[in-house]
Amino acid sequence: MLVAINPTTDRVVAGPEWGHETDCAERGYQCLFCGEQLTYTPAAGDTFDYFSHVSAPTCLPDAGSSKHHRAGQELISQYICNTLPLSPQAIAIAVEKHVGPPSGYRIADVLITHPIRLVIEVVYKTSAVHLRDRLQTAFRDGYRGLVAVLDTADVSAARIEHHLSAVGSIKVARLDPVQRSVTIGSVIRPATVTLAPDAWESVPAYIA
Ligand SMILES: [Zn+2]
Repeated sequence: MLVAINPTTDRVVAGPEWGHETDCAERGYQCLFCGEQLTYTPAAGDTFDYFSHVSAPTCLPDAGSSKHHRAGQELISQYICNTLPLSPQAIAIAVEKHVGPPSGYRIADVLITHPIRLVIEVVYKTSAVHLRDRLQTAFRDGYRGLVAVLDTADVSAARIEHHLSAVGSIKVARLDPVQRSVTIGSVIRPATVTLAPDAWESVPAYIA
């Protein structure tokens, strides 16, 4: 994992910012997503792995998900949790969570259910984002949306923003997984986007 809750400072920290202490389990470092105790186990030469669960297997997707995508999920989670005015432990946040009814659910890359309701889509491979459909499902359940694009994605944030300008005033968040920098985007609400199918006709299939 890339990030962890430091319970002393009440902040979510990323491995490289945290330094070289090796007793983070004693300090009570916790997983942001499941609360499990973490240890500091940086993998040599690996930019994205610093913490691992003490006794449980990781709660983050491993197989089938690229490291960049997973780092993006962790980075945007860190940013938002450090921005919200409450302790990270009090925030209900999860990755790869179902949204919508069992018969037509979508999987949110990151889902925050408290204190705000927000679905975050992290774009890395653009083969099938299905954004219109995801927003529709999210809005139906009372969530708002946020699109975050990795700098290492196969299409640029500016290009995606350009295409989405046809359906609303949407600023996407930008994530640099290597520098661990985040530029936040706009929260998408029913009032700021149209979901009418004809408005989406000009949006390329990989994102629509
Ligand atoms: Zn966990």
